[in-house]
Amino acid sequence: MNAIAPSLFVSHGSPMLPFEPSMARDYLQSLGRLYSPRGIICISAHWETDEAKLCGALKPETIHDFYNFPPFLYQQQYPVTGDPDLAAKASQLLHQAGIQAEIDAERGLDHGAWVPLMLMYPQADIPVVQLSVQPMSTPESHWRIGRALRELRDEGVLILGSGGATHNLRDLRVGDEETPVAYAADFDHWLRTSVINGDEAALLDYLNVAPEAKRNHPTPEHYLPLPVALGAAYNPRGEVIHRSFSFGILSMSAFLWQ
Ligand code: ZN
Repeated sequence: MNAIAPSLFVSHGSPMLPFEPSMARDYLQSLGRLYSPRGIICISAHWETDEAKLCGALKPETIHDFYNFPPFLYQQQYPVTGDPDLAAKASQLLHQAGIQAEIDAERGLDHGAWVPLMLMYPQADIPVVQLSVQPMSTPESHWRIGRALRELRDEGVLILGSGGATHNLRDLRVGDEETPVAYAADFDHWLRTSVINGDEAALLDYLNVAPEAKRNHPTPEHYLPLPVALGAAYNPRGEVIHRSFSFGILSMSAFLWQ
């Protein structure tokens, strides 16, 4: 009998996150020690599809989906196994909820998944099924995906949304990195407050109600793992489990829902 696993949203930051000292790195390492799920469904901002897709590979390859980073980063492997049975079960739950979903038996894990997982579970001993985001769909449709998958938590499956609480790469800064620019700090404050209050309506309508939403998320893919994690909550009032900034613009906020 597995304990109910939580639903999480984490900000994964740069692919260099596991290899450079930061509060967010330390935090993710400690987070993994708190939970021992039997499996993980990881919703990654870096797998964008039209319809929901699930990774069904038994041995998902480590994808190095980034450019202009040091050569050693392209050698990194996260040698975890997949869980085709879990992928099939998740697909079935989505279909029962009227959501189109397909299993992709070839797709591996991109850095949206393996960067936080390498920190949380360095032994790579917990099976992972990656789930895509659908940037052409609404936050509500992502929330429905989370709701359809919620019962998997009862079997000890961790729901892990991996994106970015703020994500305007055009404004990355070096030096004084941990002090955020005002518009990112304002959005992050709104986000944390909305999560704590369990304000699902606001979180789903973020483009219209959050301060400078479009400036913080010029494209939606790094936000969309959050409504999936929110949909998988039994209590919409979430906890802020980490706060920091990197590059002056990337909030590394992380949230947990029971
Ligand atoms: Zn990213």
